[in-house]
Amino acid sequence: MRIVLLGAPGSGKGTQAQRLIEAYGVPQVSTGDLLRAAVAAGSPLGLKAKAIMDAGKLLDDETMLSIIRERLEKPDAQNGFILDGFPRTLRQADELGVLLNAIGQPLDAVLLMEVDQQALFQRLTGRRTCKTCDRVFNVYTSPPSSPPPCQGRCATPELFQRPDDAEATIKKRLDVYAEQTAPLIDYYANHGLLERIVAEGELSVVTERMRSALEKRLKQR
Ligand code: AMP
Repeated sequence: MRIVLLGAPGSGKGTQAQRLIEAYGVPQVSTGDLLRAAVAAGSPLGLKAKAIMDAGKLLDDETMLSIIRERLEKPDAQNGFILDGFPRTLRQADELGVLLNAIGQPLDAVLLMEVDQQALFQRLTGRRTCKTCDRVFNVYTSPPSSPPPCQGRCATPELFQRPDDAEATIKKRLDVYAEQTAPLIDYYANHGLLERIVAEGELSVVTERMRSALEKRLKQR
């Protein structure tokens, strides 16, 4: 199964991708996570990416395309993947299409995670990540005390806020989404791939909506 999760920052792409990988046995490919790993490793890519990410801007398409090409060649992506955070521009979407068509493995669906603007802002300002296991919490909607931090996996969880979740940067990221990424909604609708998902409410209810949209698509294959 090859899908793209499309949606504004804070729409739950990463959280829901985590839940879908268990159900479908395909990896989550998050370009944001790949870039954060490069920043943490201090690689040349990481050094270039850090300032751009902290400013809430997008990295250039060439860089992102070479990262995604390399990632999709890995053995674990041969039976499918859940793309989270890619594509984010029309050029990236076009090139992804070319790449997947060339290997005869086109996308099955693009799920658009729809969340209203105010909820997005609260999700992003409240987001905190465990330093040890990367589990994501929200101080408003799923604080670390409920469920217990890392569900007991990390003895002394230390939570941090992503630098790009600072309020001023969030505003920039939402603007960048509206300008550069939102045009992909029409793009994928025109390609007959778009499924709209109401991405608010209980996590498990949202997962179920996504699964039923995917099942419908897989039946049509
Ligand atoms: P995310 O975790 O998906 O919100 O991504 C965090 C940041 O990484 C973004 O704000 C961008 O600076 C950068 N980034 C991630 N994916 C892409 C992409 N497909 N194109 C350009 N920049 C990206």
